[in-house]
Amino acid sequence: ISDADRDMMLSRIRDVPDWPKPGVTFKDITPLLRDAPAFARVIELLSDAGPETGEPVTAASPPVDLVIGIEARGFILGAPVAHRLGAGFVPVRKEGKLPAETTTANYELEYGEETVEVHRDAVAPGQRVLIVDDVLATGGTVSATVELMRAAGAEIVGVNVLLELGFLHGRDRLADVHLDALLTV
Ligand code: AMP
Repeated sequence: ISDADRDMMLSRIRDVPDWPKPGVTFKDITPLLRDAPAFARVIELLSDAGPETGEPVTAASPPVDLVIGIEARGFILGAPVAHRLGAGFVPVRKEGKLPAETTTANYELEYGEETVEVHRDAVAPGQRVLIVDDVLATGGTVSATVELMRAAGAEIVGVNVLLELGFLHGRDRLADVHLDALLTV
């Protein structure tokens, strides 16, 4: 990532202190999304962050069959990445939102548990998937999504996120997948 790209993205991600609760600084990407050139550049970068080889997903590596977007900002970023890669798009959602039969995975939150789901027939064994989300915080959501993909027999090409909150060490929960973050704070 060039300094110019880094500055462009960082200047369009707004810190909202104490939201959704005291002590949390929310990383709001809506200023970036509403800026057409910035949005386009982020999609380009999220599509190219390379898996095994460090080369663009589109060029050097075998194709991605499906982009897996995590509710809700992973939908906004993941769908255009899928379009760009010529891949299909599969939503991973919070419990109770998907209409057909699902597979579920639970993960721990600070207080209690959260559940994510995917349609049981969404991913076929052997399909190559790229997981996309906006922010990697504790890594719970992405690691539950990885679990869903493994249960489906998918081959996980990588996980591409816009922003990694390094101080939460989410990466440590994802040691066995290729994780690329465009920005780390
Ligand atoms: P986690 O499971 O802790 O990695 O949290 C990841 C999910 O929660 C992502 O889908 C993010 O969109 C959202 N999230 C967690 N923390 C933040 C934050 N500080 N700012 C914005 N989004 C966050």
